[in-house]
Amino acid sequence: MLIPLIHSLGDAQLRWFARRIANERGRRLLRFLQDMALREQIAHAAVHSPFYRQKFAECGVSPRDIRRASDLPALGFFTYPSDLAADPYQFLAVPRQEIVYAMASSGTTGRPKIVFLSKKDWEFAVRMGSIGMAMAGITAADVVQILFCSGNPNWMTGDLIQAELEQIGAFVVPAGNSVPIAQQIEMMQMFGTTVLMGTPSYVYRLTEEGGKLCDLRSLGIRAINLAAEPWSESLRTFLQEAWGARIYDSYGMMELACDGAGECPALCGLHVSPYLLVEVVDPRSGAPLPRGELGELVFTTLYRQASPLLRYRTGDLARLLPDEMCPCGGVTAERISRIVGRADDMLFLGSGENVFPAQIEVALMGVEGLSGFQVIIDKVGYRDRLRIRAETSAPSGHLQQAIERRLSEGLPFLQHEIHRSQLIAPLEIEFVESGTLQRETPVKVRRLVDRRERGNRAEVESP
Ligand SMILES: [Zn+2]
Repeated sequence: MLIPLIHSLGDAQLRWFARRIANERGRRLLRFLQDMALREQIAHAAVHSPFYRQKFAECGVSPRDIRRASDLPALGFFTYPSDLAADPYQFLAVPRQEIVYAMASSGTTGRPKIVFLSKKDWEFAVRMGSIGMAMAGITAADVVQILFCSGNPNWMTGDLIQAELEQIGAFVVPAGNSVPIAQQIEMMQMFGTTVLMGTPSYVYRLTEEGGKLCDLRSLGIRAINLAAEPWSESLRTFLQEAWGARIYDSYGMMELACDGAGECPALCGLHVSPYLLVEVVDPRSGAPLPRGELGELVFTTLYRQASPLLRYRTGDLARLLPDEMCPCGGVTAERISRIVGRADDMLFLGSGENVFPAQIEVALMGVEGLSGFQVIIDKVGYRDRLRIRAETSAPSGHLQQAIERRLSEGLPFLQHEIHRSQLIAPLEIEFVESGTLQRETPVKVRRLVDRRERGNRAEVESP
């Protein structure tokens, strides 16, 4: 088996091996091995996981009928985040004493989604994560400052990221996101930080506020790795210019033990971890979509002992990229586009214009003096109302006008719906102190909060 084989190799052997299979033949080999692993994963889940034992009994498909990745739609069922939140023990496919770690994330309903890791799952996740980081160019020479939230039960990924970086041999500075910005910059200077990892909203605020304290380019940060929230290409350009660093996107979720996909230096989409199979389906009907079409990402784990997941619906929208080698030469079975948004975050405003939070972000990115924002949508009478909570250290009428102008340019229907059809109320802007939004939701900032009655929107399940 390729993956257990990789697991047993040293780093030098691994690099040699990666070069040998960095071609089309290597990709066919990887897919062949993934199909073998899929058969094992399905057999394991169907026997040992109570949830899947029942699913197989109901769906009338024999586990033996699923021979390869392309057979997955024949299962006819999906696993939803709500299934995992309802009872994570229904997914447990090993005896409880074999669990060494649990990863949890909570949705808006407050019930955490939990997956368990056995010792082998943990070691595996560390190994695969470190391969992904190495693919993004992180080496033993790097000093990596981690800006993700720490010590929060809804964000248990810190230990895993740290273990992955240690595997590479990098120096880890676990700074978190609760220290003052000035101190964050001092740590970079003191330790000679070369790589930052954090959420886009925090890194944006760090850039806005930190830029006033020093020349960020003088700090020597060569790469910034963003994860956990969708973000736009204009943020990439903004951060690249401010720091003089390469900006990388990575995608993962607790349910996948933070495994997922990540950008390589070629910036040609995100390489999907070889430990996962990916499908893209129509978010409404669940039907598989042709390559290149925008739809919901669905993942099936391979080699997972404790909490195997088959056809797990992520709610995240992206595309499968063309079936060809990446210019970087890295071998993965699939690459996906960057995440466009969440299927359930798409909003209908006014007369039914649809909007993704990312469009609002693109509109407001780079407004001078704005260090963060949140848009709250509710109803006044029959009209939708957008209230923008704008984080700034210097509120002014000028800033208010700049925000209104940028939103009107970015969402051209707004003017019409506010002034002509009057289906949207005039924009309201509330200034809040910088850092307020992060304090309210320490793990990740919710850019868009929809308080309207259901019916205006799809069911919201927060990531
Ligand atoms: Zn690549």
